[in-house]
Amino acid sequence: MAVLQFLASHGLAFVLVSLLVGLLLGSFLNVVVYRLPLMLERDWKMQAREILDLPGEPAQATFNLILPNSQCPHCGHEIRPWENIPVLSYLALRGKCASCKAPISKRYPLVELACGLLSAYVAWHFGFTWQAGALLLLTWGLLAMSLIDADHQLLPDSLVLPLLWLGLIANSFGLFASLGDALWGAVAGYLSLWSVYWLFKLVTGKEGMGYGDFKLLAMLGAWGGWQVLPLTILLSSLVGAVLGVIMLRLRNAETSTPIPFGPYLAIAGWIALLWGEQITGTYLQFAGFR
Ligand SMILES: [Zn+2]
Repeated sequence: MAVLQFLASHGLAFVLVSLLVGLLLGSFLNVVVYRLPLMLERDWKMQAREILDLPGEPAQATFNLILPNSQCPHCGHEIRPWENIPVLSYLALRGKCASCKAPISKRYPLVELACGLLSAYVAWHFGFTWQAGALLLLTWGLLAMSLIDADHQLLPDSLVLPLLWLGLIANSFGLFASLGDALWGAVAGYLSLWSVYWLFKLVTGKEGMGYGDFKLLAMLGAWGGWQVLPLTILLSSLVGAVLGVIMLRLRNAETSTPIPFGPYLAIAGWIALLWGEQITGTYLQFAGFR
């Protein structure tokens, strides 16, 4: 317990520990982002085969978040522990596989760095509190699901739903909102996007977003209470517009390519949770309401 006391009384130490933990977690999140969708796909295929009474697929090698060990996708070289140190290994290896020299995606060190910095910021923002602990978990979850959604247009229930429960549990202790506000936040978060979805579908005959987006906004409402929803939706369109323009410029993509909404919601919700009151306050003051 001496460690906890030390962290509680030394704010900077807590920030540094969070930075380190964040970097390591970022490395694990890279694995989750890559493997979880593949694991889900395997699962769904197996279930579909069962329902259709098809013979099961031949037994496959173990594949989960822990096993097998990470390998180079080009030559199968097994990543040794010293090649797996967040950010540093990438720099030491100059971004190339130690065995076959194939380039390693810049995304891995960037995700690690982002996870470390976001974690350090959460620790600095809240200090050594339960709020910081809970928000660290949420931050890691949001980062993982944003990347998965960006890659696969998929927001896994196995990430979104546990975090929804966790938000409600955190607020049963009133960490970010009252339990009542959190409950209605979850309900209103789901229903608001659900209504937009059906309106859009009835009017245009197209699907503008997925059910994962409703669940994600419900989850954010469970964390911040219904009060964070208007700002989250507003900010997500803003973030979406800005990032959308940047991405269109970068990839010269067609406008019809589906752009997942999840990452925007996640970023907007995170901002609204951390600075919602300041942003709304400044706006009201600016607009002359205060
Ligand atoms: Zn290799």
